[in-house]
Amino acid sequence: MTFEKLDLIEPILNALKHEGYTKPTPIQEISIPIVLQGGDLLGCAQTGTGKTAAFAIPILQILSKNASNERTSRKIKALIVTPTRELAIQIGESFANYGRFLNLRHTVVFGGVSQQSQVNPLKMGVDILIATPGRLLDLQNQGYIKLNDLSIFVLDEADRMLDMGFIHDIKKLIKLIPAKRQSLFFSATMPESIRVLAGTILSKPDEVEVTPASTTAETVQQEMYFVDAANKKDLLIHLLQDKKIASALVFTRTKHGADKVQRFLSKAHIKTEAIHGNKSQNARQNALRNFKDGTTRVLVATDIAARGIDIDDLNLVINFEIPNIPETYVHRIGRTGRAGLDGKAVSFCDVEEHAYLRDIQKLISIQIPVVSEHPYPAENLPPEHDSNKIKRNLTKNRNKRPTIDPSKGKRRKETDKIVSKPQQPTKSNSMHEPHLAKPIKRS
Ligand code: AMP
Repeated sequence: MTFEKLDLIEPILNALKHEGYTKPTPIQEISIPIVLQGGDLLGCAQTGTGKTAAFAIPILQILSKNASNERTSRKIKALIVTPTRELAIQIGESFANYGRFLNLRHTVVFGGVSQQSQVNPLKMGVDILIATPGRLLDLQNQGYIKLNDLSIFVLDEADRMLDMGFIHDIKKLIKLIPAKRQSLFFSATMPESIRVLAGTILSKPDEVEVTPASTTAETVQQEMYFVDAANKKDLLIHLLQDKKIASALVFTRTKHGADKVQRFLSKAHIKTEAIHGNKSQNARQNALRNFKDGTTRVLVATDIAARGIDIDDLNLVINFEIPNIPETYVHRIGRTGRAGLDGKAVSFCDVEEHAYLRDIQKLISIQIPVVSEHPYPAENLPPEHDSNKIKRNLTKNRNKRPTIDPSKGKRRKETDKIVSKPQQPTKSNSMHEPHLAKPIKRS
């Protein structure tokens, strides 16, 4: 499959060449024709699959047909709502890149910064608006944003929207936009609450799924270290002393935790910055820029702050703390191994986190391979990984005679304990492999 076969117009094809894209990713291959035909779309796709281009490219093509040369007469015709500022900025960059040879204007609005610089382009007129929910409603309230001419609405990262408590803003927004419109809805996970929300926004959508939400990117090599909480700090410093690691994104559950990790790594002379919700927008952008250009080797982030970070060759994600929501693990490790590149995700699990790990492994249906040879092994391992306990059980059972199960009257051998072997994730698929995406339903 090529982009030419998707009936894209010349200026977009040229822009994609300029980006170095040679062929569409699976979600692009399926979604672009659906969107170009004007259909609604329900996309289940995690970041790193090329989903931004899957909606940005056809939106640009549709709008370019009716583009006006008059700057002031421009009305907002496409609205993309996304949960975080970082993601909004990145989507804005994608529209700029793919639309570089088109006469369309876009702008990005998000909270946490003065509104003046965002109001000016709105006054000039834009065709495409990318926004986080709070600032969008705020500027709409003040009369700077008019949504009456909207014809395409995109809700991006819907699961994260709900996690972040944006549900009321989204409901308010839906009342403000024209009922007659094309809607595209993307979420990395598709629990019932998301399906219900999608049902209120979409009309007879086509559904597309790219690597099921519970599947970790297959280009990511995963490793688990069992370590006591008090030793995580030393283990992290120990791992990061490996100079071969060019850059690493370290996740913590809390803002406070992120600051703590940043402090002890800096003390250990490892160049580190932290991003989280308590940092100003400017501080977050600077930290991100420093990390992308290699000035900072390690970026520590909370889940919300890291959402939407797109770093081309990030090769290591470290879960300093195991997320308590299993889907978050999938999102976190999706920061590496993007665009088909190999990546590695390392997790530190202490005794308090064994239950979280169990939930994650259940969700991804993989036993994450355990690294047992390291300087800070944990005192307590989960029973299924505790080789001493397993050995003790086997010896104890070996001494027992097979017993009769009275309820069944059959011979039951107690020695038949199965110790499951960790299953290695397969490492073959790139983001382009076709079996990763499938249209689920055409309604
Ligand atoms: P996304 O899932 O939208 O966050 O995209 C992940 C990364 O894939 C971004 O860095 C995009 O620039 C890149 N990308 C998107 N589409 C393609 C493509 N067709 N070929 C190569 N890279 C792509």
